[in-house]
Amino acid sequence: MTGGPSPKRRCVFCGEGPLSAEHVFPEWIAELFREHVGTGDWGHSNSALKKVWFKPRLDVTAKFVCKGCNSGWLSEIENDAKPVLAPLILGRGLPVLLSLADQRVLAYWAFKTALTASLVSDKKLFGPEPFAELYRRKAPPPLRTVIWTAGYNSGRPESSIRPRTGRIVVSAYPTQRAATRFETQSRLITVSIYWFVFQVLQYDGYSIPGRAFAQIRGIKRIWPLDAPTDGPFEWPPDRAALGKGALERFAHRSDNRI
Ligand SMILES: [Zn+2]
Repeated sequence: MTGGPSPKRRCVFCGEGPLSAEHVFPEWIAELFREHVGTGDWGHSNSALKKVWFKPRLDVTAKFVCKGCNSGWLSEIENDAKPVLAPLILGRGLPVLLSLADQRVLAYWAFKTALTASLVSDKKLFGPEPFAELYRRKAPPPLRTVIWTAGYNSGRPESSIRPRTGRIVVSAYPTQRAATRFETQSRLITVSIYWFVFQVLQYDGYSIPGRAFAQIRGIKRIWPLDAPTDGPFEWPPDRAALGKGALERFAHRSDNRI
């Protein structure tokens, strides 16, 4: 053994210590709620832990990140995402037009948040490598990562984390000529924060262009983005917010349908 903190006490991103208790959902989102929604009970469900709990604020915390990462590059991701994300979380001023630049900012934030959310729901979902890779690259999501977004109208402030592992059949169209049923080992996590839903898929094998993934009504892919087929769109996608049943089916899907 060499010196330094034990693996459990090392930052999941940079491998250094010491760790501090950090919010899985950043503090600015809790503040956003105190300001715009009030301090009523916040319901949070975590399907992997089969837990539902209610708190006067959104403060799911865990020790997994060091102060240096948290106050450095991670806070830059938060600051960039905040103006785009805040109206989507609150469901205010809808529909909101999301430019390609906005989608890129959201995808970067969603990927980072999916990684940290996995640590409180299914620690082994992604394994250590995507954390280290994100720290090295400090850039929007790597290859073999697809991110979708949707609106969710539950009528009350709540958040949820739903990880899913296993084989997922994705009907992809890698060429104009052939439709391919593409089945691969995948990691899928779906996170909702009040109105805003995102889903991150990481898959093994060949990298597939974003446009090859089939469209699902009410759900829009924000990563990877391919010019010129992808462009700005109005959020929520198709002007339709998912209900509870649709969110559940989306989170546990094993193929392109919900
Ligand atoms: Zn760190």
